[in-house]
Amino acid sequence: GALPPATQALVERRRRTFGPTSVLFYDEPLHVVAADDVWIETADGRRYLDLYNNVPSVGHSNSRVAAAIAAQAARFNTHTRYLYEITHDYAERLLATFPAELDRIVFTCTGSESNDLALRIAGAATGARGVIVTEAAYHGNTAAVTEVSPSSRPSAALAPHVRAVPAPGGEGDVGGSFAAAVEEAIARLTREGYGVAALLVDTIFSSDGVFADPAGFLAPAVDAVRAAGGLFIADEVQPGFGRTGAAMWGFQRHGVTPDIATMGKPMGNGFPVAGVVAGADLMARFAAGVGYFNTFGGNPVAAAAGLAVLDEIADRGLVANAADVGGHMKSRLEALRRNRPVIHEVRGSGLYLGVTLADADGAPDPAAVTRAINGLRDRGVLIGAAGGRGEALKIRPPLTLAREHADMLVGALEAVLDAG
Ligand code: PMP
Repeated sequence: GALPPATQALVERRRRTFGPTSVLFYDEPLHVVAADDVWIETADGRRYLDLYNNVPSVGHSNSRVAAAIAAQAARFNTHTRYLYEITHDYAERLLATFPAELDRIVFTCTGSESNDLALRIAGAATGARGVIVTEAAYHGNTAAVTEVSPSSRPSAALAPHVRAVPAPGGEGDVGGSFAAAVEEAIARLTREGYGVAALLVDTIFSSDGVFADPAGFLAPAVDAVRAAGGLFIADEVQPGFGRTGAAMWGFQRHGVTPDIATMGKPMGNGFPVAGVVAGADLMARFAAGVGYFNTFGGNPVAAAAGLAVLDEIADRGLVANAADVGGHMKSRLEALRRNRPVIHEVRGSGLYLGVTLADADGAPDPAAVTRAINGLRDRGVLIGAAGGRGEALKIRPPLTLAREHADMLVGALEAVLDAG
């Protein structure tokens, strides 16, 4: 249908000023005027349940985060070359959520910068160049990180120092099969002279389509990489900060400790702040070779935002809420799957779920996923797509979601699937 005039005017202003890489959600993009907790309000007066947002992870327009940002911005904010207390309060609070051996942090502004730096740290420590990632991984937008993000290069061959393996899934020994694929990649990188700098994975495999179970499946692959002299980099941009409902960090569900962890997105609830955590040794080996300065990374306002997010997660029990509401949503979706053959698989952990849709022959059906996403939007529910072919519904709401909201999604999805 035709867009409301004010929305159409914004689309045109955007077209005249933004480059073609600036892609919006939906053919009829949402023209947002405000948001509160799990709700987004648009210019036409509608309200949408937002199940596609791990940036405002402690809720849209969170008042504690907003107040912390405003208060700090009114006091002091600049680059990161001064001693300033709140920065250290934040670094210590954040590091305390990690296993003891991960005891140093470098703040950045984006997940991309964090992964870029992690690759450099791994290269400095190992003297190797090879990186192993999953087939539909996304790790960010710098030149080096785009090379290890197969989902950003659908029509380009991977660089020779990068090997992609299938995300861990399917039946049987998931961890064993994943490790076998990683071992094959190690052998190839070694044979070709690149060596193995790192296995880099998003520990909930978001863009691959959300793969979480069985918990523990990462361990054999991590062992294999370390045996080859490489490091394990856990990209926690998506699963981090409690989303899986099992722990603060996605790698903890798998009983492994990474050599390097990277994080971003939900860290400042929308304020740009991100980081890289590693042991003192690794950080020192990197710093011996080069300098690294990040003007805005972890500046005082970023630290204030980050601290308020940690406070919200702790005081409101949001990790437990993710487990409770996510578990409830998953079991209701499982029940729906038993009556709707189009639902092929329900995967995920906590408030990160992937639901694959299949056609009558059981083949992945990205067109059905697109129809369901648009149908849900018409019913006031926002979700996304995941997977190499867009074959999975991606459900990733703020961690403040309540059971009643999960029930709204399930009811709306049922109606959408029945409408065909
Ligand atoms: N890693 C993962 C797993 C991501 O999903 C993203 C962003 N979608 C990034 C890294 C990059 O983060 P940013 O966009 O903040 O650079």
